[in-house]
Amino acid sequence: MFGIASRRFSTSMMTHSSRYYFAQKFVFFFGAPGVGKGTYSKLLKTDLKLNHISTGDEIRKIVKGHTSSTFDPALKEEIKDLINAGKFVSDEIVIDIIKEKLKEPESARGVILDGFPRTKSQLDIYDKKGLPIDLVVNLELHRSIIFEKLKGRRICHNCGTSYNVSNI
Ligand SMILES: [Zn+2]
Repeated sequence: MFGIASRRFSTSMMTHSSRYYFAQKFVFFFGAPGVGKGTYSKLLKTDLKLNHISTGDEIRKIVKGHTSSTFDPALKEEIKDLINAGKFVSDEIVIDIIKEKLKEPESARGVILDGFPRTKSQLDIYDKKGLPIDLVVNLELHRSIIFEKLKGRRICHNCGTSYNVSNI
């Protein structure tokens, strides 16, 4: 579906300011909601020592004021203002969030992009910014099992921790 040629040494990458970049692996996790992207990302994050990036989670953290010290404060404020005004975060900003996450020490060896890109437009912007793709993992699960899992999803109102009460 998407081209997965190695773009690791494109000229646009040479000018990127990240400290890590060339050493970083970029793994993409695709799949339906409930398929287990988050669960598998978190397991692999530990095993492979990669950082886990879920842009949705990141936006929630920004709104609550929980971001890493390396995160650009101006971008953080811009995102907070957008969310508080009930507006959407643009695809450009979503990719800027990823670029901020790449600066974290946890990203030194690479990152797992959980559920990104969501759209062709996001992929195009990602490409245009010269960001690489090393591996795409497409998770699949039987439809009926996905439905069971989604029905059992619960999120704590206080701390945002997610649970699942389904028994599969
Ligand atoms: Zn809680």
